[in-house]
Amino acid sequence: MSSVADLIAALPDLAWLDADEVRLRQTSYWDASPLQACALARPRTTQQVSELLSRASSSAQTVVTHGGRTTCVDGVRGQADDIVLSLERMNRILEIDCVEGVAIVEAGVVLETLQEAVAEKGMVLPLDLGARGTCTIGGNVATNAGGVNVLRYGMMRNLVLGLEAVLPTGEVVSSMNRMLKNNSGYDLKQLFIGSEGTLGVVTKVVLRLEPSFSGREVALVALDSFDAVLTLQAHARRHLTSTLLAFEVMWGSYYDAVTGDGGHRAPIAPGAPYYALIEAVADESGGGNGLVSLLERSLEAGTLADGAVATSERERLEFWKVRDDFERILEASPVFLYDISLPLRSVNHYIRDLMHSFAERFPEGEMHVFGHLCDGNLHLFLTPKAQTSNPDDVRQAADEAVYLNLSRYDGAVSAEHGIGREKKGWLHVSRSEGEIELMRRLKRMLDPANILNRGLVFDV
Ligand SMILES: Cc1cc2nc3c(=O)[nH]c(=O)nc-3n(C[C@H](O)[C@H](O)[C@H](O)COP(=O)(O)OP(=O)(O)OC[C@H]3O[C@@H](n4cnc5c(N)ncnc54)[C@H](O)[C@@H]3O)c2cc1C
Repeated sequence: MSSVADLIAALPDLAWLDADEVRLRQTSYWDASPLQACALARPRTTQQVSELLSRASSSAQTVVTHGGRTTCVDGVRGQADDIVLSLERMNRILEIDCVEGVAIVEAGVVLETLQEAVAEKGMVLPLDLGARGTCTIGGNVATNAGGVNVLRYGMMRNLVLGLEAVLPTGEVVSSMNRMLKNNSGYDLKQLFIGSEGTLGVVTKVVLRLEPSFSGREVALVALDSFDAVLTLQAHARRHLTSTLLAFEVMWGSYYDAVTGDGGHRAPIAPGAPYYALIEAVADESGGGNGLVSLLERSLEAGTLADGAVATSERERLEFWKVRDDFERILEASPVFLYDISLPLRSVNHYIRDLMHSFAERFPEGEMHVFGHLCDGNLHLFLTPKAQTSNPDDVRQAADEAVYLNLSRYDGAVSAEHGIGREKKGWLHVSRSEGEIELMRRLKRMLDPANILNRGLVFDV
C-alpha cells in the first residue's frame, strides 16, 4: 500500500476526498484550473490534525493547508502527490466574551460569519477585507491579513491574542492567551502569524474585539493632484483621529474602469486623476468634528474637486462596491495583481516611474492602481496586452517593472498578501540574506522533513 493509502486507512474519520473529487474544486479564487492533490483531508479536531501531520512527517508525505483559498500569491496550489489539509470542518465559534472583548474560534470559521456573530453581541471584529465571505480566520492569521481598517486597528498581528497550532511533526503548541499583556518569554504565536502555513497549521485563535459604534459615515471625493490626496489624508488623520476607519485611494483609471459602461453606478463624475473613499465613525455629537465638517473645510480650502456623502446604508455599500468589486478589470487576460507598500512620500514618484516604464515595455497595456493609502499599501492591476508566444516572459517583464525599482524607494514587495509561490523570487528585494537564512533555519528546525506548504515563501 502507498503511504497515502496507509494514511487514509489509519485515519478513516477525516472525511477524505479522493483525487477525482479533489479535481472538482478549483485551485483558488483567482485560478479556475482543477485543484491538484492525491487526497484531501477534512479533520474536525486538533487531535486529528496532529495525527495526520505526525504520520505525514514520518513518511515524508507533503501537505498543503487550505482555508478559503482566496490567497492572492499562489499560496494553496498543490502538486499531484500532495495531500490537502482543509480546515473547512473546523468552523465553530467557541466563545464570544463581550466583557473581556475576546472571541475564540476554530481556524476554519469564515471571516464574515464571525463578523456577523460578533456584531449581534454589540462588538466589532476589527478585521475586514473584500474576501470576507470566503476567507477564514486561520488563513487570515497565516497571511497576517490587513484589509481596510488597518489604520484604526492594525493588521492581524495586532488582533490575535493567542492561538493553537500543530507543528509539522504533529506536536500541538497551545498558546491560547486571552490577555492584552503577557510578556512571559517568547511570544510564540507570532511565529505562525504571517508565515503562510510553513511552520504549522493554526487550529484555534483568540481574537481581540472592540466595542461597537452607532454608525458609519462614508464619503467619496475627487482630487486634482496627488499633493491634494496627501493633504486630505493628513487632515483626516489629524481631525478625525481614532474615528477614521478607512482612507482608500483609487487612481482615475481604476475608478473609470469599474464605473464605465455596464459597471457600477459612479457616485461622482468620472475623469478626475484621483478618488478617495473615506469612512469614519458617525459624528453623533453635532459638534462638527466628523467627516462632513472635514469635507466642508477641505472644499473651502480648495483641496477637493468634487465629493458625495452616502445618505443611506444602501448608498454606503454602493460606494464601497466601487472600491471592492473589480471583476471588470479581471475580464482582461492576462491581468497581474501586485500588492506593494511604500513610504507615503514616495508613492507618487514610484507610480509615475512605473507608469512610464510599463508604458515603454507594453505600449498597449493598462495599469490600474488603488489601495489603502494611509498604510502606504497599493494594489496594482497590470494588463500588458502584449502580443507574444511566451506568457512567462510577459510576467517576468511586468514583475521587473514593479519590483526592480522598489528598493530605490524603500518599498516592500508584499504589503499584506504575503509571498506564496508567486513572489518568492523577489523576497530578496525586501529581506536581507541574513533574514532569509534565519527563516530557513526556523523552517528546518520545525519541519525537518519539509512536508508542510513546501516551496512557499522560499526554498529550504
Ligand atoms: C477579493 C479579494 C480581496 C482581498 N482583499 C484583501 C485585503 O484587503 N487584505 C488582505 O490582507 N488580503 C486580501 N485578500 C487576500 C486573502 O483574502 C487573504 O490573504 C486571506 O487572509 C486568506 O485567507 P484564506 O482563508 O482564503 O486562506 P487561503 O487562501 O486558503 O490560504 C492562504 C495561505 O495561508 C495558509 N493557511 C490557510 N489556513 C491556514 C491555517 N489554518 N493554518 C496555517 N496556514 C493556513 C495556506 O496554506 C496559504 O499559504 C483578498 C483576496 C480577495 C480574493
